[in-house]
Amino acid sequence: MTAQLIDGKALSSQLRADIARRAQALKAQGKVPGLAVILVGDNPASQVYVRNKVRACEDVDIRSVLERHDATMTEAELLARIHALNTDPAIHGILVQLPLPPQIDSHKVIEAISPTKDVDGFHVASAGALMVGEPGFKACTPYGCMKMLESIGMRDLRGRHAVVIGRSNIVGKPMAMMLLAANATVTICHSGTKDLAAMTRQADIVVAAVGKRHVLTADMVKPGAVVIDVGMNRDDAGKLCGDVDFDGVKEVAGWITPVPGGVGPMTITMLLMNTLASCEGLA
Ligand code: NAP
Repeated sequence: MTAQLIDGKALSSQLRADIARRAQALKAQGKVPGLAVILVGDNPASQVYVRNKVRACEDVDIRSVLERHDATMTEAELLARIHALNTDPAIHGILVQLPLPPQIDSHKVIEAISPTKDVDGFHVASAGALMVGEPGFKACTPYGCMKMLESIGMRDLRGRHAVVIGRSNIVGKPMAMMLLAANATVTICHSGTKDLAAMTRQADIVVAAVGKRHVLTADMVKPGAVVIDVGMNRDDAGKLCGDVDFDGVKEVAGWITPVPGGVGPMTITMLLMNTLASCEGLA
């Protein structure tokens, strides 16, 4: 069997076209969605991520305000900026690019963002809302994975078993919660899982969010399963690759996401979606 591809780039383009249309409709009412992006220091990867986010905003008529601060910025200074943005009516979303320099407590900073502007979905209030099924911003990467499942007709996951590999606060845990909310039976695996393959072989849906190459190989996948690869790693030649042994797994799975061109573009798209929803008053 050769799996069908879930094309994150194509799906992103469709969703971004819809976001642009909705942003235009807001403009007609005199409203412009605004995203504040805060970068502290000069981490090269962070600079690339921030640049991509700002560019993506421009393409869909979301106004982005990029704040670059020195690596020496103090925690108090950053908190003061967050408080100012929290009360700025032109700003509907606040994103603080992680990691932050060591003198700043990331958790404290994220918790300082108003939950009404937490478009990354990392605030405890957003995580809690997801947990209890209340409205709130959803973490962008798992939200994008859910959209990918929906795009292949998998909206209600009743009767399906989903296995999530990884339990970080920004991917694995919210992913599991979203799958549960869609009525899947969910298993979360991590570095302490005894027999990972025994778990994944039972899964109708596997989401790999580990950050290690070849965590999921063909022998670990049930024929026809949906495989979503969140991982971002480099292969020996320095090329971007995921957690899944793509060449092997595509011969067994029913559906598979590529890396690059899979979950990556969806993450930024869901950030745009959250910012738009915030301006629309829907989140
Ligand atoms: P993380 O915080 O390092 O979490 C990794 C998780 O994998 C942990 O829960 C860890 O278990 C688990 N793990 C490690 N080795 C394992 C093994 N051999 N078997 C089973 N589980 C194992 O990473 P993250 O932030 O969630 O990110 C995961 C990956 O997704 C990274 O490659 C990251 O770059 C990528 N990512 C991609 C996007 C995107 O937009 N495409 C967005 C976010 C992240 P323990 O908890 O027991 O340590």
